[in-house]
Parts: sequence; C-alpha cells; structure tokens
Amino acid sequence: MISFYPGPSRTYDEIPDYVKDAHRSGILSMNHRSDEFVALCKKTVSLLKEKLDIPESYTVLFTSSATECWEVIAQSLITEKSLHIYNGAFGEKWFDYTHRLIPNAEAFPFDAERKLDLKQLPLTDQEVICITQNETSNGTEVNASIIASIKRINPRSLVVVDATSSMAGIELNFKSADVWFASVQKCFGLPAGLAIMVCSPQAIQYINSINEKKHYNSLVFMNEMMEKWQTSYTPNVLGIYLLMRVLKKRKPINIIHQKTKTRAEAWQKFFRGAKNLKLYIKNQGVRSLTVVTVTGKPDYVSEIKKKAKAAGFILGEGYGVLKNDTFRIANFPAIKSSEITKLKSFLKEYR
Ligand SMILES: *Cc1c(COP(=O)(O)O)cnc(C)c1O
Repeated sequence: MISFYPGPSRTYDEIPDYVKDAHRSGILSMNHRSDEFVALCKKTVSLLKEKLDIPESYTVLFTSSATECWEVIAQSLITEKSLHIYNGAFGEKWFDYTHRLIPNAEAFPFDAERKLDLKQLPLTDQEVICITQNETSNGTEVNASIIASIKRINPRSLVVVDATSSMAGIELNFKSADVWFASVQKCFGLPAGLAIMVCSPQAIQYINSINEKKHYNSLVFMNEMMEKWQTSYTPNVLGIYLLMRVLKKRKPINIIHQKTKTRAEAWQKFFRGAKNLKLYIKNQGVRSLTVVTVTGKPDYVSEIKKKAKAAGFILGEGYGVLKNDTFRIANFPAIKSSEITKLKSFLKEYR
C-alpha cells in the first residue's frame, strides 16, 4: 500500500532500520536526564535549525502533538484574548479549543477561495494572533508575505502559526512570526507522537513575563528545561531519535521547497481540464503546495477511493464538511516520484 494520506502519512523507508539501531544502541530505554539524552536533544535541535533554516536565536521545544501545542498556547501564552484567522476545519478546531480556555478568543473566518485581506482584519491591540498557515482540510495556504505583513502591522502582538502540514515540506520564514508548530507525522515523514514548537525571543520573553505554572507542560517549565536540553516529562525519546536520523539525511529546506512546488504544479496540471474530478480550490493563488484537495460527485468520489484502495493506494478522506465530495492527496517529501507516477496512471482513467 502506498499512502497519500495527508497525515499520518507515508514514512521514510529507513525508519525500520533506525528503530533497530535505536534498540541496539539503548535509545529505547535511555534515561531522559542522562548525558546521552542531552547530547541527542542538542543534536536534534541543531539539525532542525540547520535543515529548516530556523534562526539561531529561536528556541525549539518538544510536545507530543499539534493539538497539545494548541492547548499549551492557550494556557501559557494568552492571558486575555486571541484572534483566530482561519478558513477551514483545523483553524476552527484550534479556535474552539482555545475558546474553552480563553472566553474572549475571537474568530475571524474567511473565504477559502480568497486571499486574506489585511484591511478587513481587526488587527489592532491583539495579544496573540493565530494563523493556520496550511489548512489541511481544504488544501489552502496563507502565504509568507501575508504572515510577515500581519507581524509588521502589529509588532507587539505575538503571531502564532500552525504549520503542521507544511513545516519540513516548504520554506517558512520563521523570523516573520513568533511561534511555529508542527507534528512530525506529516511533512517530516515520521510516525506520530511528537511535535515541535519553535519560539522567537519575543515569545520566550512573553512566556516568562506571564509565568504561568499551573500545568506539567506550562511553557515556562518547558523552556526552563530546554535550557538544559531536557523536557519537563519523559518525552518520546524514540521519536526525537528518529527525527534526528531523518533530518541528517534531508536536503536543505530551499531544495525541498522547490521539489514540493514542482510536484504541486504537476498535480494542478494533471487535473486541468479533467471531466469528473476537479481541484476543490479554484483560486490558484491560495492553493496549498503540500495538500491537493480533489472534488467530484459524492458517489464518484467514494467509488474512486474504493478502487484506489484495491489498486494499492490510500487516498486522504475528505475532512469535516468536505467528507463526501472530496479526497485529498498528500504532496509530502517522503513520497517517491515513482509512487506519484503510479497514482497518476491509476487516476488517469477516472479524472
Ligand atoms: C494534523 C493537523 C493538526 C493536528 O495534529 P495532531 O498532531 O494530530 O495533534 C493540527 N493542525 C493542522 C493544520 C493539521 O494538519
């Protein structure tokens, strides 16, 4: 089976070997207060910074999922209010989770077919501005220049970006926002159970000034522990080890970005002029580079998903309200070109 699911997604072929190495070298029972863990943590963070082009002054923290990042942000980074800018199910879920903890959290939903219009945003006096960079449910993205403008217009606010389905797949301008997070079961090509959170010096300063300490994963504790290359609880050591091994082999992000972009354009071309299947997002200017959402009549879509499965392909289900009339194709780096060719030759008959 070849998985084109946009998370959990296809993992790199080397993972089983790395797991064996981890077993052989004692990683599986490694103590998270040991010198060996400190070295592993340091190495992983340094590779993340090197390969993803994260500024040296930024802090990398580990959590176990992107959902945990949503919660940690609501508990330790927002004291009064936050603004949530989204156009799909993941951004909305993030808002819902935050709203339960922060009653003043405000939603700004926008049209998935439109570029975010900065003039319409209630940007002034926001404490924290939350943006879903890549909306995995519908296959749209908020581009780098819009995120940078939001920060430029409101430099005192913290801009927090969910990049779960794009980090490690495309270039992100980390300097243009304060907190970026992603779990590893998407573009990193790793098994689930680990997420990373990247914080600017301004974010760390704010975290310390709030000094929220009510939770095991309060950001103050997490940051304090990371200053010693450790975590506030026993982390997913195997996950961190696998991340380190996978990163070691990866090309720099600008090269990966080019490949992702070329493949995304090829997918768009593939569906151009198709009779039965169309790209769900019509506006090319807002389409995601890492998630391709395809739409058709519900019966047809469900037939294709079944036939694809029988032919050895797992397509991504439609998400939320799009469940019945869409399917999604991950355009993540771990997928091989030969696999894309195979899926295309299967879909050719049906498109
Ligand atoms: C997958 C996804 C999440 C949730 O990730 P978990 O690691 O399952 O918590 C959050 N946001 C976006 C944009 C996602 O694609």
